[in-house]
Amino acid sequence: MSDFIRLLPDSVANQIAAGEVIQRPASAVKELMENAIDAGATQIKLIIKDAGRTLIQVIDNGTGMTVTDARMCFERHATSKIREAKDLFAIRTLGFRGEALASIAAVAQVELRTRKEADELGTSVIIEGSRIKSQESVSCPKGTSISARNLFFNIPARRNFLKSDSVEFRHILEEFQRIALVHPDVELSLVHNEKPVFQLSKVNLRQRIVHLFGSNINEKLLPVDMKTEQVQIFGFIGKPEAAKRTRGEQYFFANGRFIRHSYLHHAVEQAFEELLPESAIPSYFLFIEVDPLTIDVNIHPTKTEVNFQHGPLLYGSMRSAVKHALGMFTLTPILDFEREAIFDHPLPPGHEVKAPTIRINPDYNPFNQVKPVLQKPTEGLRANRDEWEKVYEIVRSSNDLEPGANKSELFETDLSSATRNNHPTELMVNSFPAAKLIQVQNRYIISNVKSGLLIVDQQRAHERILFEQISTMLEKEPGTQQLNLFPITIQLSMVDSDILIEIKNDLCKLGFDINELGGGSFVVNSIPASLPIKAIEEFIGEILEDYKKNKVEPGSAGRVKFAGILAKTIAIKSGKVLQTEEMQSLIDQLFACKVPDMAPDGKQILRILNQIEIEKLLH
Ligand code: ADP
Ligand code: MG
Repeated sequence: MSDFIRLLPDSVANQIAAGEVIQRPASAVKELMENAIDAGATQIKLIIKDAGRTLIQVIDNGTGMTVTDARMCFERHATSKIREAKDLFAIRTLGFRGEALASIAAVAQVELRTRKEADELGTSVIIEGSRIKSQESVSCPKGTSISARNLFFNIPARRNFLKSDSVEFRHILEEFQRIALVHPDVELSLVHNEKPVFQLSKVNLRQRIVHLFGSNINEKLLPVDMKTEQVQIFGFIGKPEAAKRTRGEQYFFANGRFIRHSYLHHAVEQAFEELLPESAIPSYFLFIEVDPLTIDVNIHPTKTEVNFQHGPLLYGSMRSAVKHALGMFTLTPILDFEREAIFDHPLPPGHEVKAPTIRINPDYNPFNQVKPVLQKPTEGLRANRDEWEKVYEIVRSSNDLEPGANKSELFETDLSSATRNNHPTELMVNSFPAAKLIQVQNRYIISNVKSGLLIVDQQRAHERILFEQISTMLEKEPGTQQLNLFPITIQLSMVDSDILIEIKNDLCKLGFDINELGGGSFVVNSIPASLPIKAIEEFIGEILEDYKKNKVEPGSAGRVKFAGILAKTIAIKSGKVLQTEEMQSLIDQLFACKVPDMAPDGKQILRILNQIEIEKLLH
């Protein structure tokens, strides 16, 4: 019997190993840029063609390599960064496994040019699919330039597996941004298809964030800075009202390395607690410095998860640091601090103490915007108390429904029959005195009704009302308002502006006229008639968030979606104090809706606690 087991040829073994390290163009970008950082570069240029398919080139002014190193660096497990096993426990560099260059050279056509400052001549190495094609002396600038052409040229299956250029380029941007955030002191540039995308000079962290994400972000950043014996946490968090509905601007860096960490993310969310609008995710750019001995970085190069030895302690510190930053902004959260010893000190002298309020869109009163719509006689129908009672009865019985049963249907039929049987004008005249309404936690409206206690979520209720009004208006004709005299300019991050360019035509159909000015700037010349001018930016932000979250393909931004997003944007938010008349009007309008119990996104708007339930609660 002959033996079966054979060693794989190096080229095959390298390709297999490469598959783990280099999954897409962005992985090569990350590895090459990290090498440049590890080499102490103060200037790094990234040049990309066709989202990295055709070319990825990184040019740095770092230490450069000797002739021997220029050849050695492409060997697997060739690294200058660790020498013995114990070094693994004190890693300060980004790379250490010595796999990246070997992997890139296994799956691309690579050219390296490198020179050490002291040397007169540099070295050029050309290597394709792990095979050295040439090595010679060249004259070149100090530092290193590595270009990788035609990634996966020898693995067609991999190449076909790549996503569209816009998706692949978004991944590259993400890697570039992560590195740019950790190294604001390094000059960085990014050129894609000959067009400059970023040209970042040496700045501080705040300025770097602004250069990357647009000037709008500046005023939304709150500094975080704290230090204990075990950990230092610094950076910025976004103000609560700047929180978005999708993940995006959430960055943790541990010892200079981008990480994902659901546990720490939770700590940040905990610190924001009630301050966030519903289902919003706070932005953060937070840097964690711990002793390298207490962090397990012996992780796979493509993985962004890490293990901290003092996890629970770090969790507490993270929460405190963020709470403290928020506390400096508004005193509210300080009031319910579980006094964490490190922060048991007063505000610094000269720091302004603000009233404990939650401010969301302070000078925006959506009721003003809604009124004109309401004045249409049939839509402004006020439900009278008899109808209310009827609705409560339905809610009560629908509470006993099987899960999944369609409560809204019940509403629709019963409520519409109730309104149809009465003459609209009669209803207006015979309006009964209002039920007593109380606002709780600036978030819920409660009322004593025949069958128990009615609880209404104010934000969801208003979203439903606006959604139905806007849908009706759109069915007729979208209508536009021209902003010719005062066009509005908006500034977006690179990622967001790419998306806006993609969906611009869809927005056009809804009454928008938006022109790209370049560099992430857009001018808005006209907007749908139903959109308050003040809410433009917020609305576009929501549309982009929605796009990122649902990954809707262009073309599907239909009217219903638009109405839903618009309603969400301009609806009053949780946290807004309401006057009695406002509550009354909200409740009346809600019960005049076709589907008063469900917000456009499917969430429950109201609930009645009957006597039995209340008794149970108090048991
Ligand atoms: P690692 O970064 O894990 O050590 P790499 O395969 O990325 O492994 O790189 C191998 C070695 O090549 C590095 O340890 C370093 O000595 C050298 N090297 C790579 N890129 C550069 C660069 N841009 N400038 C100087 N040296 C470099
Ligand atoms: Mg490396």
